[in-house]
Amino acid sequence: MVLLKPTYIIDGDITDINLDHLREAGVRGIIFDLDSTLLAPKSNVVSTEVEAWLKKVHENFRVVILSNNKKDDYVKQAEKLFGMPAIARAAKPRRWGFQKSLEILKLPAEQVVVVGDRPLTDVLGGHRAGIKTVLVRALKTIEEPAWKTFFRNLERCFIKN
Ligand SMILES: [Mg+2]
Repeated sequence: MVLLKPTYIIDGDITDINLDHLREAGVRGIIFDLDSTLLAPKSNVVSTEVEAWLKKVHENFRVVILSNNKKDDYVKQAEKLFGMPAIARAAKPRRWGFQKSLEILKLPAEQVVVVGDRPLTDVLGGHRAGIKTVLVRALKTIEEPAWKTFFRNLERCFIKN
């Protein structure tokens, strides 16, 4: 169960992550989850708030997107939209995608964090690959079906002590 406990838990979406704190903690690279973390599912719209936050990310960190999404065209679009290399079909929590991400970032695991909204994929996978993790909530602008919120909250139950 300790593998499911995020290094950092943010009570908010990605824009609530304090990037200065990450820098001070020695973080130089970020592996981003795509769906719900950077984008609303099946969406290609980025809010101005997210855009401003990502500008600061690009200025301070090396970045890569690691997604379980199987739609290659969609992930390619995200790659262009965010200006980050993106890996689709990652099968998180399997390790290979995280290892590939580290190769792309050209950074050791100790200098990288995984940022995502799912304990059972992003957090577990990151930890299995020896990478610190940041659990965020889905973007506020997303209106997701109630059953999805239910499962997300259920997953969060696992990480409470
Ligand atoms: Mg996600």
